[in-house]
Amino acid sequence: MSGLVLVIEDEVDLATTLEYNLRAEGFQVRLAHTGRSGLAAATSDPTPDVIVLDLMLPDLAGTEICRRLREQDRTRETPVIMCTAKGEEIDRVVGFEVGADDYVVKPFSVRELILRIRALMRRVQRTEGEPSLVRFGRLKIDRDAHRAWVDEGEIGLTALEFRLLHAFLSRRGRVQTRDALLSDVWGIDADVTTRTVDTHVKRLREKLGDAGAYIETLRGVGYRFKGEPEEVEA
Ligand code: CA
Repeated sequence: MSGLVLVIEDEVDLATTLEYNLRAEGFQVRLAHTGRSGLAAATSDPTPDVIVLDLMLPDLAGTEICRRLREQDRTRETPVIMCTAKGEEIDRVVGFEVGADDYVVKPFSVRELILRIRALMRRVQRTEGEPSLVRFGRLKIDRDAHRAWVDEGEIGLTALEFRLLHAFLSRRGRVQTRDALLSDVWGIDADVTTRTVDTHVKRLREKLGDAGAYIETLRGVGYRFKGEPEEVEA
């Protein structure tokens, strides 16, 4: 899979390592070492397909950059993966509030980052004319018929559980806050709390059995459906 990745990272060694590895995987790469140059690089032609954004930059915070990217038409929909250091839990949450799609915690493996970049690119490329039948590892769903299978065995889901699974699958590889799930699955005006989301996710996960491992819990943030089936250890 090719595509242009913009890496906004002030640690030059890390940025260079990422560039080398991404190029080896067939990606085109654009590097920026400051927030301001990163913003400029995000909007210059051709615009990047995915942005890897460091949270701590010398001139602008990653959260601020993300917010600005979301305000501009050219970058509003561009997937952003935030790189954070360990222990930046609060900043992480803020990161999703300003619209990051995923994150990795430093030190992260380049392999993991590449899997996540691929997942985000696939999501974007797949949105046009997606077929009704979607396969993800051991899981298969038919969106039109509202049916789901794990290892070819059909699982009985309620309408709500199906909507939840569908929301997870169609935004796979992206972090989903409880609030976002509430408005996507239940509707904004629904009289339910975020705890209801947790209850239903738990039940859905139980019904999915081994495939329930595709749903990852992010403490204090929400959930993330794996970007690739291979992210679950066999
Ligand atoms: Ca940094």
